[in-house]
Amino acid sequence: MSDLDGFRQEVRTWLEANCPISLRTPTPDGELIWGGSDVNFTFDDQRLWFDRMRDKNWFCPTWSTEYGGGGLSSKENSVLESEMRRLKCRPPQINLGIWMLGPVLLAHASERQKQQFLQPMTRGEVRWCQGFSEPNAGSDLASIRTSAVDMGDHYLVNGSKIWTSYGDKSDWMYALVRTDPKAPKHQGISLLLLDMHSEGVKAAPIDLISGKSSFCEVFFDNVRVPKENLIGEINDGWKLAKELLQHERSAMSKFGEFQLPTHFDLMSLINDYMPEPRCKSEAALFDKAVTAEMEERAYNLTVQRLGHEMQAGQNCFALMSIMKLVHTEQEKTKFELLLDAMGYRALGWEDNNFTEQEQAINRSWLNSFSQTIAGGSSEVQLNVIAKRILQLPENKGTS
Ligand SMILES: Cc1cc2nc3c(=O)[nH]c(=O)nc-3n(C[C@H](O)[C@H](O)[C@H](O)COP(=O)(O)OP(=O)(O)OC[C@H]3O[C@@H](n4cnc5c(N)ncnc54)[C@H](O)[C@@H]3O)c2cc1C
Repeated sequence: MSDLDGFRQEVRTWLEANCPISLRTPTPDGELIWGGSDVNFTFDDQRLWFDRMRDKNWFCPTWSTEYGGGGLSSKENSVLESEMRRLKCRPPQINLGIWMLGPVLLAHASERQKQQFLQPMTRGEVRWCQGFSEPNAGSDLASIRTSAVDMGDHYLVNGSKIWTSYGDKSDWMYALVRTDPKAPKHQGISLLLLDMHSEGVKAAPIDLISGKSSFCEVFFDNVRVPKENLIGEINDGWKLAKELLQHERSAMSKFGEFQLPTHFDLMSLINDYMPEPRCKSEAALFDKAVTAEMEERAYNLTVQRLGHEMQAGQNCFALMSIMKLVHTEQEKTKFELLLDAMGYRALGWEDNNFTEQEQAINRSWLNSFSQTIAGGSSEVQLNVIAKRILQLPENKGTS
């Protein structure tokens, strides 16, 4: 038996003994656990799973043990991921800090910053939000205007961010700020870590059509941020932002993996609403559902191939824009097909005449649409793919 086979056996045994049976199902809407200073568990098994994975140091399996990670190699991590998939274990927590900021800190932060920020992340104690987008700076992110002025021992931050997911529930923000207003727009930007409890920070939720309000507008009014919270070099934040966005896209290319319904439930769900196709367009829906399922299988195989390539030492980082684009578009297509099959039943909205599943599908469709915008819209991904992967001539004005 190879070392890796032995490790797989070990992981399998541990997961079977420690992942509660109730958490070996896709995560229904509303049962996601967000790590942070105020974690909301809806039932005890969630806390148990959270605590066990944290104590195993598997919130951040590949990070070095020095910073509270699991110290696993990328091959071992692939084994862990595949065994979790096999058992259908839910992720023990969702944490933007771990997915997006953490890898950037590991690569670019000072030793003191790593000690300060990574350990609490690996224990799921801090909830992070992303302060990138601003009014008039979404796709064209380099146009951000929130300023951070050097005041000697601290920066004074003024301005506002928009579409900040869970800004009102977060402990800290990683923010892009303008530190040199005279420099060309891609220069003069820095990456700053900001305590959301600082004086002068106000997070105001924005109401959404989906009925939930995960978005916030965040205002900064003379917020003092210690200089030691600057990551990397001053005015060199654009490079870090691009790196961070690729980590975001990588994480987003896996969203939906544990959510219901999957592409493989499509046919039977459509069948529930249309046992017998009554016309050509209904028959065509079945064809589209088969295509969607095949495309999902192809996507999953591509994910596996990328995993093998990464294990073999290839750098697949740039390809995450493709994965994010394809995955989020496929998720959207899945829900659009379901809505087509459901007919008027797709109108269900907090109404007893509609089943919980119908209402959940309706919400998930809206959410799937938003995922094609978050982390850079599909059009922007196409621009990034054209420029950075296919090396086509630059289209002026894209991010
Ligand atoms: C669910 C969700 C969560 C989000 N969470 C956060 C968060 O936590 N923090 C944060 O900072 N931001 C967040 N965002 C904001 C997100 O990053 C922006 O919405 C996104 O980058 C698009 O920017 P915009 O909304 O300003 O649209 P715009 O940039 O105004 O774009 C409008 C339309 O024009 C298209 N377009 C723009 N430029 C080009 C171009 N050059 N070529 C082709 N088409 C183009 C876009 O594709 C889009 O269809 C979130 C968004 C969503 C939907």
